[in-house]
Amino acid sequence: MKHSGLKQASRIAIEYLESLDSATVQNTASVDELRSQFVRELPYDGWAPENVITHLSQAVEGGLVNSAGGRFFAWVIGGGLESALAADWLTATWDQNAALSACSPAAAVAEEVVGRWLKELLGIPSESSFALTTGCQMAHVTCLAAARNSVLSASGWNVEAKGLCGAPAVSVICNEHRHGSIDKAIRLLGLGAESLHPVGTDRGGRMLPGAFEEALYKTHRRKIAVLSAGDINTGCFDHFEKLIPLAQKHESWVHVDGAFGLFANASRNHRHTLAGIEGADSWATDGHKWLNIPFDCGFAFVRNEDAHRSSMTTGGSYVSASSELRDQIDWNPEWSRRARGFPVYAALLELGREGVEEVVDRCCRLAARLIEGIDALPRTEVLWYPTLNQGVVRFLHSSTDAGESDHDRVTDKMITAINSTGDAFFSGTTWKGRRAMRISVVNWRTSDADIDRTISVIGELILDQVHQ
Ligand SMILES: *Cc1c(COP(=O)(O)O)cnc(C)c1O
Repeated sequence: MKHSGLKQASRIAIEYLESLDSATVQNTASVDELRSQFVRELPYDGWAPENVITHLSQAVEGGLVNSAGGRFFAWVIGGGLESALAADWLTATWDQNAALSACSPAAAVAEEVVGRWLKELLGIPSESSFALTTGCQMAHVTCLAAARNSVLSASGWNVEAKGLCGAPAVSVICNEHRHGSIDKAIRLLGLGAESLHPVGTDRGGRMLPGAFEEALYKTHRRKIAVLSAGDINTGCFDHFEKLIPLAQKHESWVHVDGAFGLFANASRNHRHTLAGIEGADSWATDGHKWLNIPFDCGFAFVRNEDAHRSSMTTGGSYVSASSELRDQIDWNPEWSRRARGFPVYAALLELGREGVEEVVDRCCRLAARLIEGIDALPRTEVLWYPTLNQGVVRFLHSSTDAGESDHDRVTDKMITAINSTGDAFFSGTTWKGRRAMRISVVNWRTSDADIDRTISVIGELILDQVHQ
């Protein structure tokens, strides 16, 4: 039968989505079991597509983490909106190379439209250039390459021509709790981990303005300040209104890591927490987190279009520049690439402005409900009440003379115990020296019923006392 592999895949996909609510969240198969489910040796004779797809869906059995469902609260991982997922299937089907507009005018126009929509939605100055990347990691690389170009060119050094050997030093001032993708971007760009100057933070993970200013005074003339719009544990934002003018006084480039937090701008309830952020020079965020586009998808925005283009353009002689349409290759680190503008366009159309706001507000409300529910249980302690969609809790040992290490141990055991019920899934963290459980709500599927079920599962485990 023609296209039977595709028909089989669409049946399996829909069955999978319909099973998400009843399926266990955590993977259940052991690594050995999983290995034995996959074909060991590359076969000499190929298989029919339908057989391949049936086999693949069996091979992954027990090895998928059902993070697409509503009771997955670990790390910061979004789900997939129906239209974004369907558009992603079509994107693969159309198989466009979104490197050059000539390769796919439709893909180039889709990016042009969503670039403008996203700037409006996220409160980014309209003159900024943009790129659709694989995620926030590559959005950082894109933005920080533009930053490197700009701060070195201000010192008369053309980094694109000369590279970094012999270049004047660049300092990167950052939050001590920054996401590791900042460090990786800095290393990939050849600036080196030692160019990072971590700044101390308050209880919520916000840089202390005094310490930030001191770092600006103490560092080299060429500076990049990296601010956080959403600490991965607490969801707190650096104080943009205070820090950005300080950085500007020192002629520093300001980059914002807003992997999930930039979406707060879509909400009238939360927008004020981003005040001043429009003064930055570059912004990185994700599509696969709060916008609920299937992996992978990120966005980079740069105010200085020339620095952005200079650091990414190839200008190869056979690359015909289209005057009418934007060639993505001039703005992206990748050459050949997926047309990820299509699922982004679909997601934004499905939600509309109001829908994005509603998803953001609902996730924040549910994060607060979950934390309050856990707080009301015995032997729990809230380390951070959500100001956005993230919170931090820990579990306490029952003995009155228990110490920090006992609470740490109980917390880790509780996280393992909760995850092994299959009802909900959390990740652990060390927050300000103490073991804790992180709570992140960014999936459009998460409902009040999911929160009720999660609180009651945690409550039962605490009463069991088996994790002391
Ligand atoms: C997830 C995340 C990143 C990295 O983004 P990817 O999309 O995984 O590349 C960076 N910063 C923060 C704050 C994050 O939450």
